[in-house]
Amino acid sequence: MKFKNFPIYRIEWVTSSFLIGTALLSLTVVPWFLWTQFHLAADAANKVHGWAFIWALFVFYYYATGFGITLGYHRLFSHISFKAKWPVKLFVLLFGAASFENSALDWSADHRIHHKHVDEDEDPYDISKGFFYAHIGWLLFRLKPKPPVTNVKDLEADPLVMWQHRYVQWIGAFVGFVMPAALGYAYASLMGYANPGMTALAAFLIAGLLRTVVVQQGTFCINSLCHMIGRQPYSTDHSARDSGAVALLTFGEGYHNYHHEFQHDYRNGVKPWQFDPTKWIIWTLSKVGMTEDLRRVPDSRIMAAELKEKSRTLGRDIDSLAARLDVRSRELKAKTIAAAHELAKELALRAEVLKEAATTKAEVAHETMVELRGLLNQAASHLETLRRADAGSAA
Ligand SMILES: [Zn+2]
Ligand SMILES: [Zn+2]
Repeated sequence: MKFKNFPIYRIEWVTSSFLIGTALLSLTVVPWFLWTQFHLAADAANKVHGWAFIWALFVFYYYATGFGITLGYHRLFSHISFKAKWPVKLFVLLFGAASFENSALDWSADHRIHHKHVDEDEDPYDISKGFFYAHIGWLLFRLKPKPPVTNVKDLEADPLVMWQHRYVQWIGAFVGFVMPAALGYAYASLMGYANPGMTALAAFLIAGLLRTVVVQQGTFCINSLCHMIGRQPYSTDHSARDSGAVALLTFGEGYHNYHHEFQHDYRNGVKPWQFDPTKWIIWTLSKVGMTEDLRRVPDSRIMAAELKEKSRTLGRDIDSLAARLDVRSRELKAKTIAAAHELAKELALRAEVLKEAATTKAEVAHETMVELRGLLNQAASHLETLRRADAGSAA
């Protein structure tokens, strides 16, 4: 984008001031406050007491507002991947508001468009417009006027969602900023500290301000990093990627390639070893009757997607690797190359059969799934052999 064409008249002034203001304060005032507190004498009038409580409050708010977004705004409201009883809904609406990412209704409307038009011009956080735009730029200024909201009729029928939508800024300010300060004050008074106002201020800065910025940047990473770095085991039809590292920052939302392929699954990290605390909480809540109707994509459909993708990448990688081998190694590896091509064909065929079975809801035997997993491993080892030969011939 040329700078002279920068849409100044499309800057979202309130959102921009809030996002930039809170980030700047977190980078300047918060460290300065911590630094001066660290160097104050233990009996100074302005000394903050109760740091353990303040940091515990930070951790609680970090998880409560983070799950407000991932469990509430994202998996419950945007994708209806499970049903929740009203206490769960109320919790995620209160703490979702306190993450200052708009109302659940507006968030879901944008997010449903993101899935429908991923990587296209209509995508609100379209990655093809660059990292900065997908991360935060789309919130700072609008390239086009906002389209009318038409895709959240189901949520508009929910009185709790509409109540939050109407008062979201007030709820956010109260739960996100006033409450941490009030809790800090109450705790300090209870403990008989000399200056409870200072504990309240510290709680506001750490559990309110700093926490807001940390959770927001985490969410923004899903729209930016998760469409740029990581693997694509389920589909290369869109830019979404699986990244375990980003999952650590985002309560399990980093498995974004899976999520874009199967958006109605309440799981994002579908493998048992993947870090997806949002999934674990939804499942745990279902065991105590607070959530129900958890939607899962059948294993056979997931396997079909993996086989199809592996067949595609195997064919492509084998050719490019083989072309790079010197003549002698190529002869040596001819058998591997031929076998890999055979395997790629086989994988594509099996993917079709599985997909067929999934549509007719036919049971797929456990042994078949194990056999297919073996084929996937075989594909990986063929690739490994050729990569090693390639590295050998380059040396
Ligand atoms: Zn996405
Ligand atoms: Zn989604």
